[in-house]
Amino acid sequence: MGDNGSITSVLHQTAEQFHILVDSVEEYAIYMLDPNGTVVTWNKGAQKIKGYMPGEIIGKNFACFYTAEDVAAGKPQRNLSEAARRGNIRDQGLRVRKDGSTFEAEVILTALRNDQGTLRGYSKVTRDITDQIRSREFEAEKIAAQKASKAKDDFLAALSHELRTPLTPALAAATYLEENAKKIPQEFVEDVQLIKRNVKLQARLIDDLLDLTRITRGRLRIDLENCDAHIIINNAIDIASSAIAAKQLKLSTNLDAKQHHILADCIRLQQVFWNLINNAVKFTHPSGQITIHTFNDEAARFHFEITDNGIGIEPERLASLFTPFEQADASVTRQFGGLGLGLAISKHLVDLHHGTIEAKSRGRSFGAIFSVTLDTAAKGDATELDSPGRSKPPKPLRVLLVEDHRDTRRMLSRLLTHFGHQVLTADNVRSALDIVGSGEIDVLVCDIGLPDGSGYEVVSQTRRARPIKAVALTGFGTEEDLRRSKEAGFDFHLVKPVDFHELQTILDKLAA
Ligand code: ADP
Repeated sequence: MGDNGSITSVLHQTAEQFHILVDSVEEYAIYMLDPNGTVVTWNKGAQKIKGYMPGEIIGKNFACFYTAEDVAAGKPQRNLSEAARRGNIRDQGLRVRKDGSTFEAEVILTALRNDQGTLRGYSKVTRDITDQIRSREFEAEKIAAQKASKAKDDFLAALSHELRTPLTPALAAATYLEENAKKIPQEFVEDVQLIKRNVKLQARLIDDLLDLTRITRGRLRIDLENCDAHIIINNAIDIASSAIAAKQLKLSTNLDAKQHHILADCIRLQQVFWNLINNAVKFTHPSGQITIHTFNDEAARFHFEITDNGIGIEPERLASLFTPFEQADASVTRQFGGLGLGLAISKHLVDLHHGTIEAKSRGRSFGAIFSVTLDTAAKGDATELDSPGRSKPPKPLRVLLVEDHRDTRRMLSRLLTHFGHQVLTADNVRSALDIVGSGEIDVLVCDIGLPDGSGYEVVSQTRRARPIKAVALTGFGTEEDLRRSKEAGFDFHLVKPVDFHELQTILDKLAA
């Protein structure tokens, strides 16, 4: 009897401790229901998560924790009978607080039976997992966004490849005709230049798309050297000169800066100036006026300012001009064309040079002023860009041209022959390696994507046989492509449409 008494009191004590333990848990709502689902006990966690005080909820049916739809669908009752049948169930879904707000809950409902197996009620443990779900959703969204952005980048790279391929033979044909201008009637000479100009413009647009991809991937790099900004500006003006002439625009150039040497990526800086000049030309009416002015400030910084009296920009639009794909308005785009990438790319390039770029306008039809400010460097050996002068190669080379695109192969071969070289052609890996095996070749000029393999295979196998120089031709211009091409053994990498002066300069170097 005494023993029994002490067991009872120990059990009693344990139950009490258990009750205290359960009550003190705040992260979980732990409570009991009778067999009908009426709330019998209520801990602190339940109070905290669901918002009811014990006195407000004990005696009420637990269905009030479910949403109206769940109640209408009989879910509370179904959960009870399921738990009774299986012993316990796990459920996840929306639950309702006292104030009507909802939260995402994870619930374990366990049937409680006495020794005879009679159902005495249920225990319910509920956890608020809203934050977890949110962060999981956020993670999923982030991953989906990253995937989408990679897919977009890959698409742009593939698209630019496809768009470049047909440009190469077109540009090669135009260059060839230009080279033979004396043999074609005078009236067509200008058309040839027109074709060439437009193919190059198309290539520029493709480059902009690729540049944007590089920017968004943080992969756009600049190579700093000592540049003469005035030479670069004059180069940019030269490129735009035919468009300026065509619109009969008056251009005045006041290059007043005394210090005009800049530590910069000359090609990229020329791209910025060219883009601003090109925009001024594009958005100014025929016979309009464009002024280019450079000067130094007291901190010896270099200022470039281009003013036009064209269509101008609404003040509220000034800030977003440097955002990708932003254009002043749709009617402007329809009238003047363009992708709305030039200024965004220019801004990024100027940022990489630690400079600033700004737009000013008093509004529509008041013209626009764009200015770029950069730090100057001490005068050094300025790098000059573009030396269009050409001469016959010092020594004719035996060139193996591997290219599967028929038109490109034909035109490139014709042009290389015209430049004085001896050209053999192949349109796949196998025949390229046959030629390499049977004859003496000085230079390999090779496309990357080939029907039976890749240009990487051609160069690495060729290199195993003999150490000849190799130039890769590809429609892909990503950093990754350049890296792979170097690794495979190519000495030079040209992106389609191939710039023939560049190809010629490379071959001249190899022939020297
Ligand atoms: P795009 O010229 O291809 O549209 P940009 O990024 O170079 O792309 O320019 C973005 C927009 O800024 C243009 O569409 C045009 O609305 C406006 N803009 C740029 N330069 C000028 C200018 N000189 N005068 C008026 N508007 C300009």
